[in-house]
Amino acid sequence: MSKFLNHPLTLVDRTQTHPCFTCGKENVKYARMHLPVAPRCNIQCNYCVRKFDCPNESRPGVTTKVLIPDEAFAKFEQVKKDIKNLTVVGIAGPGEALANFPAMEKVLTLIRKKDPDITFCLSTNGLMLPVYAQRLIELGVSHVTITINAVDPKIGAQIYKYVHYMGRLYKGESAAGILLGNQLSGLKYLSTHGVICKVNIVMLKGINDHHIETVVKTVKKLGAFITNIMQLIPVEGSAFEKLPLVSNREIMKMRQQCGIYVAQMMHCRQCRADAIGTLDQDVSMKYYREQPHFPR
Ligand code: SF4
Ligand code: SF4
Repeated sequence: MSKFLNHPLTLVDRTQTHPCFTCGKENVKYARMHLPVAPRCNIQCNYCVRKFDCPNESRPGVTTKVLIPDEAFAKFEQVKKDIKNLTVVGIAGPGEALANFPAMEKVLTLIRKKDPDITFCLSTNGLMLPVYAQRLIELGVSHVTITINAVDPKIGAQIYKYVHYMGRLYKGESAAGILLGNQLSGLKYLSTHGVICKVNIVMLKGINDHHIETVVKTVKKLGAFITNIMQLIPVEGSAFEKLPLVSNREIMKMRQQCGIYVAQMMHCRQCRADAIGTLDQDVSMKYYREQPHFPR
């Protein structure tokens, strides 16, 4: 049985105090912090460019600094002292959490010894879930977000440039097929073992926009608790830099359509890998300024 199930805080308590898994006013009542301990990634999404040492952009994949586990633990202790409503520690990059498992495991173990109440959350592309899902449960990770942009390898092949898996590089439909198989089996394993799973889907015009309802229905069947259909952030230097965007109206319409099958997240801020604070007030820069290398 997973450790979090033996704790007086139930999964319902942890979900209600997680700003990203609740809808309504509760989502700005509690704070979360991301620990940027995961620089490497094992796949290449066509919309992603990871940037380290970047204070000016606010999007996933961006952090001012990658931290080693001891630095991340010290930062957690500082933030915990400052922010009384901190309920969640998340690992969300700037690369892929599970491609950096030892660092993530070390920092979560240090934190758990100190604080049995804090909720652990993780964002992943899902490639390594078949290897690590059980260990995540043992670490006490109760909330996992998996980004699944397609459930058809033909569509996935247009979204992922490559997948690096078990020492081999895959491209095209075989890459997308391996990734998809691992995402779906990982989602099923986690959700049947009591982990609350969110599925993120980036809506890509002309690529997966016609396919999102199928993704949502598929992940619902495998136990997804909520889905988060998101806008593409066009990043300079990425393969999708010039991809036309779907409109906000189209995103809202898709969320409404998919809300028939599963709850929809409407309030995602597409946060940085070192975000700290409530979803309406990021205070991560305060901690950046306290680092000695900050140009004053
Ligand atoms: Fe970037 Fe995440 Fe995709 Fe890796 S999985 S390429 S970090 S968006
Ligand atoms: Fe929550 Fe979205 Fe920010 Fe992740 S990126 S912490 S899901 S609001």
